[in-house]
Amino acid sequence: MMQMFSKLAAADHEQVIAFQNHATGLRGFLAIHDTTLGPAVGGTRIWNYASDADALDDALRLSRAMTYKNSLAELPAGGGKAVLIAHDGLDRIAAFEAYGAMIESLNGRFFAGRDVGITDADIAAIARNTQYMAKEPSPGLGDISEHTAIGIWHAMRACLEFAGINRPPRVAIQGVGSVGIHLARIVKREGGSLCVADIDAGRAERAAKELGARVLPVEEILFAEVDVLAPCALGGVISAANAARIRAKIVCGSANNMLTGMDAADALLRSVVIYAPDYLVNAGGVIRGTEFFLLGIQDSSESLARIYGRTIRVLEIARSRGVSPARVADELAEARLKRPKLFRDLYWGKR
Ligand code: NAD
Repeated sequence: MMQMFSKLAAADHEQVIAFQNHATGLRGFLAIHDTTLGPAVGGTRIWNYASDADALDDALRLSRAMTYKNSLAELPAGGGKAVLIAHDGLDRIAAFEAYGAMIESLNGRFFAGRDVGITDADIAAIARNTQYMAKEPSPGLGDISEHTAIGIWHAMRACLEFAGINRPPRVAIQGVGSVGIHLARIVKREGGSLCVADIDAGRAERAAKELGARVLPVEEILFAEVDVLAPCALGGVISAANAARIRAKIVCGSANNMLTGMDAADALLRSVVIYAPDYLVNAGGVIRGTEFFLLGIQDSSESLARIYGRTIRVLEIARSRGVSPARVADELAEARLKRPKLFRDLYWGKR
């Protein structure tokens, strides 16, 4: 038990709920990291965890990341995340219904979205018992992943301008799944050229056929000679060990936790690669979900476009201090929680 509380205290989590439902096999953790800025907003993930401790650690890590993402996106939302444990005894649909009832009992303290492993049928089951679930699809909502891709593009425009590149960019996309394919379409529409890689060869081929993208082997895409590298697959792909081999001038993509740590951010800085912080630039989806479901906003185009200005500002502050933009993003996200005036002055002081 002591270990549990030291885990919560390490990143100052407000609350963890361990939930289970014997009849359906439902088991999981909901971590609510911080509600200073509003109800905790974050995804629901289902995964085959090796142990309960792994599931708890994932919920703690991901919920904290949501606080930072929502803070920097200037949303009236805190950070939370639920993880469900996949196992043989799970009666899936009934379990998701029970999970929905658990969320409903929190009366809006947590608002859930989709994350890894969740299907449309799961969302429908959750939403049968709670109003606090981002129900996808919903009329007028649009495609959340497309909104994420649009946000990435606004950030990419900022990085290109910052780097003094004023021609259509050459972009390498690692992973042309939900976000990556939308991003590829935008780059193509803006006149840029594309190379792509995906461990699912069919997806890479689709991008080649539809958009004329050049397909690269998965082990080469990170090191392609392009203007922008856009990691849109899994996290942990850029490390202090491989950063020096990156030939792109800019790294700007959707993958959550794409760096293995701050040492990777510092290595990119040493290699003079402009790094656009992942949770700053991939917030388009959560911005759309929060605006549509919690704030009743029908069109999020202008909010997504604000990612451009935020990215410019973070890059400017980073350059003036000679530090990685990753450090500036963390500092700003924490300032909005703890020192709102400092946040306003730093982030938008020049507006
Ligand atoms: P997805 O599963 O639809 O697409 C990921 C793609 O990457 C798949 O096509 C997969 O085959 C490919 N892939 C996996 N490993 C690879 C590798 N080593 N090399 C090349 N390709 C590889 O996921 P998504 O929804 O597009 O999300 C992509 C990333 O963006 C994830 O890290 C996710 O957490 C993050 N993200 C997504 C959203 C969103 O709105 N979907 C929002 C914020 C962040």
